Amino acid sequence: MVLTTTNPAPKQFVESSTFASRYVRQPLPRFQMPENSMPKEAAYQVITDELMLDGNPRLNLASFVTTWMEPECDKLMMASINKNYVDMDEYPVTTELQNRCVNMIANLFNAPIGSGEAAVGVGTVGSSEAIMLAGLAFKRKWQQKMKSQGKPYDKPNIVTGANVQVCWEKFARYFEVELKEVKLKEGYYVMDPVKAVEMVDENTICVAAILGSTLTGEFENVKLLNELLTKKNKETGWDTPIHVDAASGGFIAPFVYPKIEWDFRLPLVKSINVSGHKYGLVYAGIGWVVWRSKEDLPDDLVFHINYLGSDQPTFTLNFSKGSSQIIAQYYQLIRLGFEGYKSIMENCIGNARILKEGIEKTGRFEVVSKDVGVPLVAFALKDSTKYTVFQISDALRKFGWIVPAYTMPADAEHIAVLRVVVREDFSCSLAERLISHIQEVLKELDSLPSQIVKDSHVVTVAKEVVGENKDAEAAKMGDRKIQEKVTKQWRHFVKTKKTGVC
Ligand SMILES: *Cc1c(COP(=O)(O)O)cnc(C)c1O
Repeated sequence: MVLTTTNPAPKQFVESSTFASRYVRQPLPRFQMPENSMPKEAAYQVITDELMLDGNPRLNLASFVTTWMEPECDKLMMASINKNYVDMDEYPVTTELQNRCVNMIANLFNAPIGSGEAAVGVGTVGSSEAIMLAGLAFKRKWQQKMKSQGKPYDKPNIVTGANVQVCWEKFARYFEVELKEVKLKEGYYVMDPVKAVEMVDENTICVAAILGSTLTGEFENVKLLNELLTKKNKETGWDTPIHVDAASGGFIAPFVYPKIEWDFRLPLVKSINVSGHKYGLVYAGIGWVVWRSKEDLPDDLVFHINYLGSDQPTFTLNFSKGSSQIIAQYYQLIRLGFEGYKSIMENCIGNARILKEGIEKTGRFEVVSKDVGVPLVAFALKDSTKYTVFQISDALRKFGWIVPAYTMPADAEHIAVLRVVVREDFSCSLAERLISHIQEVLKELDSLPSQIVKDSHVVTVAKEVVGENKDAEAAKMGDRKIQEKVTKQWRHFVKTKKTGVC
């Protein structure tokens, strides 16, 4: 992207590639199109050599996004890589496959679809686009209602937990909706439904609950939220709806926790998004949004395209895009079926448990993720006065592992955690290998003189906070304050680094 910042003194030329030097003698300009063409073999070699320095996607434990699919599906995707999804009259079968996926997912989420009725939903580039669309629908519906009542409609807001994924903040800023965030607290890292409902006012276009918090994988209590909001709506005469951001949990809960009510079984849930490229098991580039019914998607947001004499309504932000991801999603749905998804998700949860137990066994970490939720393990150091999770994250890179470390959002910023996402391709033996590498890293860090204590600024801070003559109580308080300060320092330090959570 053009917005990318370059190194302070960028090299003007790409290093001439080892093997491509058989074909080209001139170094390649870095930021300008080369004057001349080069042989295709050379271009291939130059790029392959440079890409070697990328991480190995399978060892990237930071991401929920699928990194492995069956070769048969790879083949299908390559075969349709030249189809533009938007050309619906040219590729009516692809459109049909999309519509089948929408219906299968809506049914999976218990949408109240009458017989002979089609579900309302659309394939998107990911949950981010899906959330933009769902948010726009809520905003438009709310505006229409306020207008019809002769009330001001210029200050819409959404109530969420402070743990929302960044795409909600994007939606809020791009589409001018205020985000009212319920703050977290130590030991409780999801939106508290009681506080959320307290924050709802007449300008609230929806409350967004997350099924599978990005930070800890924990499911928010949508059922309780639905109950409390129903009560509030009754008292106030409003009709504030709920959106469920099921980016990762949407393909887990129906298979592993069918009894948890979080979806269209709850009357206030009007729309749900899910990432096809997370536990939907497709490579990056596919998400879904489904609405409860036609009434929940304002008609003036929908564009109608006629193809082959029938009406294809569309509601997306972009126009052209590839078809492969949609075809791949259809492949997974029919290839795996309910049974296949269920066993894959159960296996992921089993592997997450093995990992969790191994991490607990070191005695050094407190696991903050829950057993019920998205299969991931988020864990904090019990004692981070000597070194922090950020150093552990850095040290694990040496073994090829990408394990992100981050601090929690407000008001739990002083807690820093490591997070390992367990995907289908993260096997039990990889889990065991990771645990042994974590043990090695701990041993190594234990043997080093503490980096933190060496940092004179932090020492000053520590002295300031603790004082010279501390009694036991003050020491306890002091330790925590030191930890907060230290975490703050590290937070500042990692701000410039790009390893966020996705
Ligand atoms: C990943 C994620 C998103 C963003 O989804 P993309 O498909 O990557 O655009 C939104 N919300 C939650 C809870 C997520 O985990």
